[in-house]
Amino acid sequence: MISKILIANRGEIALRVLRACKELGIATVAVHSTADADAMHVRLADESVCIGPPPSRDSYLNIHQIVAACEITGADAVHPGYGFLSENAKFAEILEAHDITFIGPTAEHIRIMGDKITAKQTAQELGIPVVPGSDGEVKPENALEVARKIGFPVLIKATAGGGGRGMKVARSEADLEEAVATARTEALAAFGNDAVYMEKYLSKPRHIEIQIVGDGAGNAVHLGERDCSLQRRHQKVWEEANSPALNVDQRMKIGQICADAMKKLKYRGAGTVEFLYENGEFYFIEMNTRLQVEHPITEAITGIDLVHEQIRVASGGGLSVQQEDIVFSGHAIECRINAEDPRTFVPSPGTITHFHAPGGLGVRVDSGAYQGYRIPPYYDSLIGKLIVHGRTRVECMMRLRRVLDEFVIDGIKTTLPLFQDLINNQDIANGDYDIHWLEKHLAATSE
Ligand code: ADP
Repeated sequence: MISKILIANRGEIALRVLRACKELGIATVAVHSTADADAMHVRLADESVCIGPPPSRDSYLNIHQIVAACEITGADAVHPGYGFLSENAKFAEILEAHDITFIGPTAEHIRIMGDKITAKQTAQELGIPVVPGSDGEVKPENALEVARKIGFPVLIKATAGGGGRGMKVARSEADLEEAVATARTEALAAFGNDAVYMEKYLSKPRHIEIQIVGDGAGNAVHLGERDCSLQRRHQKVWEEANSPALNVDQRMKIGQICADAMKKLKYRGAGTVEFLYENGEFYFIEMNTRLQVEHPITEAITGIDLVHEQIRVASGGGLSVQQEDIVFSGHAIECRINAEDPRTFVPSPGTITHFHAPGGLGVRVDSGAYQGYRIPPYYDSLIGKLIVHGRTRVECMMRLRRVLDEFVIDGIKTTLPLFQDLINNQDIANGDYDIHWLEKHLAATSE
């Protein structure tokens, strides 16, 4: 049994995990940098430990300090949230070596899925459909041969990739040499590793991902999909569940493929299998071995608390549900509220002078922000998530329009006006968009 959880994160996700712990009667420890001493997760936790100065590498990424905080407070488990150390296999191993439970998958599974090539090979072996592409790494001297075999356009991707960096499209043979060279240079600069591989470039895909949870002993379920096609620079902005592009049969089919794969893998904890979806076909791109930012829309349509499931599984209590118990009900949309200029997306840290969160049926706001809160300039600009649920997509959109009018965040710039714009757009109303839609829309509507 787990009796005290240290939450190795900050912001809205630290608060989210804390809420689940409180519901389960588990004691909580918050950790924070000196810049976050006033943060809501620190105020609401049973205990808190300052683990260092503002830069993440000295605090939220400082493994020694986090392990020391566990020892000092007697925490017997760590929830890593998302980002920071959540997909760091070494961190998981160090915790295990100290007899502290890592609430997440095994270090081995984190490693396999953290490398794009081994992830893709593993997915393929487990029966998950993948994007046609190279068998592993591509060297510049073999690039042309591999690209011809795949067929142009092709995408060159960094093996160690993340956040869309080290990725280049070659539309024809003439582009290839430069695309490979640029991708390798970017990959080396961003990840210290210049290895690249190649995939067929899909021109108008949607980004559709499947939420799974496994018990680590061969049982696993899927909780349907999320459509995260509305992106800017590969960053998700608006997510919905279910996808406007899938019917029930398609959902259950791809969901079952992922659940079966996770059973074979004996996967433990929550994870997300990400796909591009084009012309009725799914193509695996990566798997995230952690809770995702957009998990609340899945919770809204299934009624299942994913953090409760993570903690149950980590304590050896197994899953609380079987596949046949999972019922998908209604539609949910999440808007990511960032402290950024809504047109240029330039970060806008500062003090929130007025904060009013909307309420009513089907409305959830996950945020650590409050009136008088000073947003530190050191971290991600996500300050909250607005999640709206309705019985149908139409009802959900009507509710979202009302709720956006009610939400007040003054003193800083936020992305709220972007959502006011999207909610009134006909393509969005029709659910008719792909991964390039938002960037084209922003370019077309900028002065
Ligand atoms: P990262 O880990 O850098 O985020 P991903 O493999 O998850 O990389 O891809 C990020 C985004 O890049 C996808 O959501 C999609 O927008 C685009 N992308 C990735 N692979 C392809 C592909 N084969 N064809 C077209 N677009 C792609």
